[in-house]
Amino acid sequence: MELLTALVGFDTTSAKSNLELIGFVESVLRGHGLAATRVASPDGTKADLFATIGGEGEGGIGLSGHTDCVPVEGQSWTSDPFTLTERGGKLYARGSCDMKGFIACVLAAVPLFKAGEFKEPVHLILSYDEEVGCTGVRPLIAQLGKDLPRPRAIIVGEPTSMAVIDAHKRIDAYRTTVHGREAHSSLPTLGVNAISAAAALIGEIDRIGAGLAKTENDPRFGPPFSTISVGTIKGGTAANLVPKTCAFHWQVRSLPSATPAVVPRDLTRFAEEALLPRMKRVTEEAGIETESLNFVPAFVAGSASEAVALALKLTGETKTGAVSYTTEAGLFELAGCPAVICGPGDIAQAHAADEYVSLDQLAACLAFLDGLAPELSK
Ligand SMILES: [Zn+2]
Repeated sequence: MELLTALVGFDTTSAKSNLELIGFVESVLRGHGLAATRVASPDGTKADLFATIGGEGEGGIGLSGHTDCVPVEGQSWTSDPFTLTERGGKLYARGSCDMKGFIACVLAAVPLFKAGEFKEPVHLILSYDEEVGCTGVRPLIAQLGKDLPRPRAIIVGEPTSMAVIDAHKRIDAYRTTVHGREAHSSLPTLGVNAISAAAALIGEIDRIGAGLAKTENDPRFGPPFSTISVGTIKGGTAANLVPKTCAFHWQVRSLPSATPAVVPRDLTRFAEEALLPRMKRVTEEAGIETESLNFVPAFVAGSASEAVALALKLTGETKTGAVSYTTEAGLFELAGCPAVICGPGDIAQAHAADEYVSLDQLAACLAFLDGLAPELSK
């Protein structure tokens, strides 16, 4: 509770620095006689942290969490989001569930991991900018097996209510920009209306999405198909002007088995066949471009994943699940570190107003970490 109170007290919204929180974790580790390595962000305002606890040998188990949170702006909170507040067995604060609760449990377990006579260590892996496309952990992952040791399995403690998750979808983020031609709105035929073209493109995106819903079906995921969502749109300057530009952001959340390039390809084909010839007849400057901004790989644990086997053993669960949100697990798996997702709190509370983690969930996570200790001595 003390550690979680301290962790949620740092406003680590992704747009802000996480260095104060990282400094706090370093001081907790120093208090146990442990050193840690920072991997700084390119601009130096944020950092990942990697620390090895106990154990001498190779391998070890990575316990991974992101330090950043989503914004509280526009949400209505019953109590201050940066002050841990207990009500009825629930601990309320931004990040309590996603995912400072897990980090607090891991820090609370440091003395346990330090005290035992373990053959292999635990590695604490903290990242930044997970909530904005899992970008912050990537430079740290690039160091695994080089400047940093490579864990033999990684537990990503995202909120799963301590269920064992062995797969998630992929995200591709795009921005589509329409270049039209400005004109007085009384003479619209002299212009090319960028907003109207964007509206047609969005209509096509919805049609492509409806097609995926009909043709794909993987019942492990909810929804059981790839989905597409338009998130922002910006265009035009005044009601009496034909708008020259319009841009919108959109995302595809693909099943691991899907081919992610299909959706932008189909949209580009629609633009080239159905929209651009008409637009270009008015002005050669008309154009539609779709840029890929970021992607987070899907996660599918290998069938003989050490990480999944370990999480099943420690939780006593017999089956695994799959989720539609993304995590850093796919990036670890791609880098050759078997990963699994298992952590305290319910994803339904993550990102929401009055986010909370229950005391029961933290207790279950602490029991999980207690169970990990004997595994390290085998
Ligand atoms: Zn998270």
